[in-house]
Amino acid sequence: MTGYQLAEDVSLAGRNTFHVAARAAIMADVTRAEALAELFDFAMLRNGPAMVLGEGSNLLFASDFPGVVVCLAMAKVDIIEDDGGHALVRAGAGLAWNDLVTWTLGKGLCGLENMALIPGTVGACPIQNIGAYGVEVGEFIETVEAFSRRTGQLKRISRADCGFAYRDSLFKAELDQWVITAVEFRLPRQRELQLDYAGVREELALMGVAAPRAAHVAEAISRIRTRKLPNPALLGNAGSFFKNPLLPAERADALKAEHPPLPVFATDAPGRRKLSAAWMIESAGWKGFREGDAGISAQHALVLVNHGKATGAQLLSLAHRVADSVQDKFGVALEPEPRLIGARWNDA
Ligand SMILES: Cc1cc2nc3c(=O)[nH]c(=O)nc-3n(C[C@H](O)[C@H](O)[C@H](O)COP(=O)(O)OP(=O)(O)OC[C@H]3O[C@@H](n4cnc5c(N)ncnc54)[C@H](O)[C@@H]3O)c2cc1C
Repeated sequence: MTGYQLAEDVSLAGRNTFHVAARAAIMADVTRAEALAELFDFAMLRNGPAMVLGEGSNLLFASDFPGVVVCLAMAKVDIIEDDGGHALVRAGAGLAWNDLVTWTLGKGLCGLENMALIPGTVGACPIQNIGAYGVEVGEFIETVEAFSRRTGQLKRISRADCGFAYRDSLFKAELDQWVITAVEFRLPRQRELQLDYAGVREELALMGVAAPRAAHVAEAISRIRTRKLPNPALLGNAGSFFKNPLLPAERADALKAEHPPLPVFATDAPGRRKLSAAWMIESAGWKGFREGDAGISAQHALVLVNHGKATGAQLLSLAHRVADSVQDKFGVALEPEPRLIGARWNDA
């Protein structure tokens, strides 16, 4: 039993939520973490290009991938410790994130409810420390188990060493050095629910729920997300394409004085404020724009969309035009949130 299977010249069109028709020179489907050492010992893999692919919901293939694309199938989920107040849940990297959220809620565990319906896999959740509606996953992760390409061994990395920050982690800083094989979450049976993010209380009221439990919050957030974001199964996209830019407070305040409706948010970073990229893009006239099959969602100005057959290069070129026009109008540089494969943002 090798625990992996190799295939050559594989289409990635069904493996990324933009539905871009890229190809992988080699695809390795892995079913056992222990097989990674043998797989990466192949000469072509030892030093050659390799990347891990989850559901492809946070990347854009600007070209074909010339090396090995590693996909992890391990999707087991178990409670491995339980003291009544908290449980330690271990989930395989290949499990769908939302299936984990639903499974934990079904076991009476809370913590992940605000992150319901985020696409992607468990293995990818630590990479950018996924977060939504005021909660980030790093808060609940106890240990990440990952294969290190440098040492050729599996390693257990505790939360303190994961370097979690806003949409960031150690793994993002050292992309492709780590193959995350499993994640362990410590989840409480009771906690104060986080309902303060825009729209959650209102949605619960619409649902007729006066005393919400975690499962109600997950349901409310799933309903809001379904209304606000285009469904990648129907319209190719990778969620928010641009990060909200962080600016020195003085510059942010000057922009706000010049454009009073511009949403500006406080941040934990001293002397920095966060600006709404969506507002700037919409105000530069891009919401609902379409050229060929590349476009900007009519539902949400932060979302770059593929209406059908747009190539990664066409989508990237539109993203650059959007960023250039925001730069011209507001003097603010936008950066993409998804990983670009086969291109560098600042090279264009
Ligand atoms: C409609 C939509 C809404 C979204 N909303 C949110 C949101 O609210 N909050 C949020 O944080 N994100 C959001 N995202 C982004 C995305 O869902 C997350 O970043 C998710 O964690 C990506 O998972 P994935 O399995 O698709 O990863 P992929 O897109 O396949 O990969 C993303 C990155 O992680 C790496 N990677 C993946 N798996 C592993 C692994 N096992 N080991 C090592 N590296 C790995 C890849 O190499 C790549 O660099 C949204 C995306 C979409 C399409």
